[in-house]
Amino acid sequence: MTRRLYIETVGCQMNVLDSEMVVADLRKRGYELAADLAAADVILFNTCSVREQAENKTYSALGRLRSFKQRHPEKIIGVMGCMAQKDQQLVFSRAPYVDLVVGPGQLARIPDLIEAVGHGKGRQMAVSLGRTDGPVAEIRRSHETFDPLRDPTMRPTPFQAYLRIQIGCDKFCTYCIVPMTRGPEQGRPPEQILAEARVLADQGCKEITLIGQTVNSYKHASGGRTTRLSDLLYSLSEIGGVQRLKFVTNYPKDMTDDLLHAVRDLPQCSPYLHVPVQSGSNAVLARMKRGYTVEDYREMLGRIRATIPHAAVTSDFIVGFCGETEADFQQTYELVKESRFKNSFIFKYSERPGTKGAELYADDVPFEVKNRRNNELLELQNRLSEQDNQQFLGRRVEVLVEGASDRAKHRGEDAGESVQLMGRTPDDRIVVFDGQPRLIGQIIPLAIYDVAAHTLFGAVVTEHVGPPLSVLA
Ligand code: SAM
Ligand code: SF4
Repeated sequence: MTRRLYIETVGCQMNVLDSEMVVADLRKRGYELAADLAAADVILFNTCSVREQAENKTYSALGRLRSFKQRHPEKIIGVMGCMAQKDQQLVFSRAPYVDLVVGPGQLARIPDLIEAVGHGKGRQMAVSLGRTDGPVAEIRRSHETFDPLRDPTMRPTPFQAYLRIQIGCDKFCTYCIVPMTRGPEQGRPPEQILAEARVLADQGCKEITLIGQTVNSYKHASGGRTTRLSDLLYSLSEIGGVQRLKFVTNYPKDMTDDLLHAVRDLPQCSPYLHVPVQSGSNAVLARMKRGYTVEDYREMLGRIRATIPHAAVTSDFIVGFCGETEADFQQTYELVKESRFKNSFIFKYSERPGTKGAELYADDVPFEVKNRRNNELLELQNRLSEQDNQQFLGRRVEVLVEGASDRAKHRGEDAGESVQLMGRTPDDRIVVFDGQPRLIGQIIPLAIYDVAAHTLFGAVVTEHVGPPLSVLA
């Protein structure tokens, strides 16, 4: 009998990919996707722990299921992902009607655990070992990668895919929960990555985004040889059909020249580098234990600009980290001003129990101050992003057409003759334009006639084909 699965995903690209894998695994066992909770036999929440707000949202969503579960006790409710790993039994205490708690390193067990619940064996939990729960090799083994299964229908588009090259993180930035929820850093074997990329290419993927928490720290040693991210890029660029290669997220200290040269020299590599700096103050960076200074970051940015002058660089910032003074914030503001980031993601510090930051430092910047700093930085970055986009006015860009624009989707106009479409340039700029839906999935040239902070506005470039116009006249 066909069973139906409803899955809700929040958080980063890792979670999007994890959901794709879980769905592929369950489909293999006869499941189909349900459009909503009411139609589902199994309901899964793939969760995020990076900020408290993300967890609060999940607990509220679970809270709303309390009476639903009373009415439908046969429906199985599961919590997977980082919050499952971090909170473990606490999920059952806060929402006793949850049947399943599964950490991101144990996803392969989900089908069996669902079956166990279905057979009346009660609540099931599968989590990985904590960072100090035993010998390193055992901890590593308890965080399994779960990758070879791909389900094209679960991707945002069939012609774009994430490919995980690394799991976990060993940087231990003091504010961050990820090293605890996703375990030790482990690079996947290059043969596996290349085999998966070939499958993706065969499935029609034109763009592959390699993902890892610190993707440019990727290393894999075997047979006396160490493979770096740059080596992977050279090998991946030989796979026919893959026209764009991207990789996120980069760690500033591991932005080596071999990698920059690969991005410069390989036509498939997008000139797009997401390298979060987090703060412009050395005192704050030291408390965050980021392992570099503002001067180191400037030096790295200088090398990027010298090697790939047209590269778009983006960053993340945390405002209101423990002890951040107005002078610290001003330094961050100045760094944004001078760095010419294409855009920045700005977050208000959220204390995470279980991190060194929560243990060592007081979360002492008032919420209103975090909010003001957040708004000031966002306003500055938006102004600079708009200025940066001006360089594209009147220029021609190549975009991979992803689908209907948000406006078109909102208006329900994604089926007609010509609709507003959106695509991305190789350096990750969003372009909207009017075009035929059949262009979706193609790489096409567009002429840019207007720009805003986060969007370029373009028009399809129609090439003249056939005899010269003078002959026709
Ligand atoms: N591994 C990536 C890196 O090192 O940049 C990103 C990981 S994290 C999921 C994405 C972003 O969330 C970080 O770059 C940071 O700016 C932000 N972040 C992480 N922990 C946070 C916290 N406790 N409060 C607010 N923002 C946080
Ligand atoms: Fe978190 Fe730092 Fe690792 Fe990124 S590098 S995942 S911010 S600990």
